[in-house]
Order: sequence, then C-alpha cells, then structure tokens
Amino acid sequence: MRIKILLLLLLFYSAIFSLSAQEITKGEVYAYARKIVDTLTSESMHGRGYVNCGDSIAANYLKNEFSKIGLKSFGDDYYQKLSFGINTFPENVSVQINGKELSPGKDFLIYAYSPTSRGTCKIVFADDQLIENKKKYRKFLKTDFKDKVVLVTDTGKQTKELNDLLGNSIHAKAIVSLKDKLTWSMSQTANDFPLIEILRTSLLVNPKEITFDITNKFIPKHVSQNVIGFVQGSVYPDSFIIYSAHYDHLGQMGKDVYFPGANDNASGCAMLLNLANHYSQPENKPRCSVVFIAFCGEEVGLLGSKYFTDNPIFPLRNIKFVFNMDIMGTGEEGITVVNGSIYKSEFDLLKEINLTNAFIKDVEIRGKSANSDHYHFSEKGVKAFFIYTMGGIKAYHDIYDRPETLPLNAFENVFKLITKFGERLQQ
Ligand SMILES: [Zn+2]
Repeated sequence: MRIKILLLLLLFYSAIFSLSAQEITKGEVYAYARKIVDTLTSESMHGRGYVNCGDSIAANYLKNEFSKIGLKSFGDDYYQKLSFGINTFPENVSVQINGKELSPGKDFLIYAYSPTSRGTCKIVFADDQLIENKKKYRKFLKTDFKDKVVLVTDTGKQTKELNDLLGNSIHAKAIVSLKDKLTWSMSQTANDFPLIEILRTSLLVNPKEITFDITNKFIPKHVSQNVIGFVQGSVYPDSFIIYSAHYDHLGQMGKDVYFPGANDNASGCAMLLNLANHYSQPENKPRCSVVFIAFCGEEVGLLGSKYFTDNPIFPLRNIKFVFNMDIMGTGEEGITVVNGSIYKSEFDLLKEINLTNAFIKDVEIRGKSANSDHYHFSEKGVKAFFIYTMGGIKAYHDIYDRPETLPLNAFENVFKLITKFGERLQQ
C-alpha cells in the first residue's frame, strides 16, 4: 500500500514536472540563440579577445554561420580588416597579500594598461581620512614610494587627489585600488606602472605586504575584422538597413582566466544571427537591402564601428537606419533605446508596436551616449538606435557573465519586436 501511494505520488509529480517543462519550452529563435551564446562563450573562444587570437576564432565562427545562412558578402569574403594596438596578459598573473594567494578575476584584476612588473613590497595606505587631513597628506607625499605599493581606497569620488594617486603621481612601485565590484576593461596602450584592483571583501584584515607578478605583451598592430554580410533588397537594393552587434569581448587575463561575455555580447550576436536567418527566408525577403555587421574592437573603444564609418563599403547616406544590439540576454524590465529621444518618431513607433503586441514590459527612452557601436553612425548623421535589455543578472565585464546564468527570457519577444519594427522600416 505504501509503495502504491509512493508510485502514485511519483506519477503525479512527474506529470506536473513534464507539464511545467512543456510550458517553458521555447522555440527555434531561442534554441539558435542558446547555441550561439554557448559557442561564443566557450573556452575555445578565449573570451573573444587578444590572447590566443580569440577574436579571430570568433570571427571565423560567425563567418561560417553567415555562410550557412546564405548571406551575401560585399567583397571576396565577409571580412573588413583593421588593426590596432592592444595590451594583453598572456602569462599567468598572481597577487599575494601577507603570503596568501588571491584568486585572479575573483579577488583581483590587473588593470588593462599595466606593464610587466613583479616584486614583494610593503603596503602603504592612502585612504579618505589621510587625503582630507591636508597637513598629514602633504607629509605623506614627501615619502619615497619607489619600493612601496600604495593602497588607495577608490571611493569613486572624482577628486584631484584620488585621480593623482590612481595615476601614480607619487611614483610608487605599484598602485592597488580597492573596489566594491571588479570590472575589467581593455587598453590600447601600456603604462609605466601596474595598477592592481582588489575586491574590498577579498582583502585580509591587516594587509602589510604584497607580492605580485605581472607579465604584459603589448601588440602594436593587432589585426582584427568586422564580419559583414547582407540580404539584397528586392525593390531598393541600394538602400540599406543595418543590424549590428559587437562580437569581441575582454579575452583572457593569464592562461586560465577568461571573460565569457555571455550577455556582453554573445547575446547580441545571437540576435544578429537570428535576424540574418529571418531575412534569408524567402517569405521574409526584404524590399531594402539588410546588412548584418558583427563589429570587432568594441570593448577597446568602438574601433570596428569607427573604422566602418570612416571606410564605408557603401555610401553612408544610403543607410536608412542602424539597429545596434548589445546586451540582449535579460529583459524582465524591458529594453532601453539609446538615441530614442533623438529619433523620436522611430522611438514612438517602436514603443507603439510593443504596446499593441505586449511583447516586453517596457521600452524606455534614452538620449545620446557613446556606449556602443551605434555612436559613430549617429555622429555622422545616420539614424541609429542602440537597444539593451534591462533587469535580471547584473554580471558585467567580469568572470560571472556566463551562459548558464544568462536567462535569455525576453529574447524571443525582443526578436519579435525588432522584426515587427523592421517591417515598418522596410515600408
Ligand atoms: Zn558590449
């Protein structure tokens, strides 16, 4: 009897489970997006940066997807090549405080411009209290810091004193900056001192001595590439609507630590490829030509889109609209539209389409911002939106921006919103 009840219970729960599993089953767009995100964030892509040529591996993958989808290329292939300087850390980096090893990526980051440097040094503190005490601070500045590491509490206040210290005006061996969140970046140059960022909660109670080992490799002319394909318009082939997403990310810090960049911006590439797939279907054949650009070098400073707008492969005046997508992985709170207040009628249209169809929670307006690849287009007078999703996981430019925690929960509805908006742009 007891076993029978247990079996009945098991049946009951498995029925409920399969029902809820069915409810969350998602469609083709989601499945393709998941595949793209998983691939672009895998270890073999090395964080799509400049250690082990991760950016080129990612570009090659995207090129193959473009080809499978059947996109045309403007030249012999889908690539538009460019080069730039980049500071990298191909060798392992290490930091110990009082002899205790910190974990790279988790406890500390080596700031992007840091050069090769190593040593064991005494730690000297420079906190708010010291800076505010003018007499004490003047005396402090007279110290010889040559063999010392100065630990600065980065309050985020933009004071001259703080900026000077973080810029190592005191000529210390290295600067340590204490942070509430670790956020990595890229640098096109190498500086003459290392800056080490340590998470405040990872610091030992009484840090006295630091040992660090950093090896940089500066690449003066790294060759990267925008990946560009298109579907020819049936009525206006010389009129272009561009969809874009950057595929590069931050790469690796040492041999083992890489930044997957699931939300930023494997998710945008997933949207780009889904759109390419959509417009390649005969039933969705566009009237104007639709161009798909996966930009390189965005994290280094919008370099791919800058190069494209300086060296366009068709006249910029023939571009009807640019729709740039960066951070497409969440969306519980809807999306934000950068340049929405500049191209107000297009924004109103997007908002209206969303209201009519109830795709996502909100379409929020924002003004101009140089925060992604739309920027160089609108600066040159080309109408351009940049959309990003809001809500959900907050991982950003850190080792936690991972595929398994990226929900893609509004992805299909954002896709529907973009394609519906695209239909109107095509008219
Ligand atoms: Zn990004």
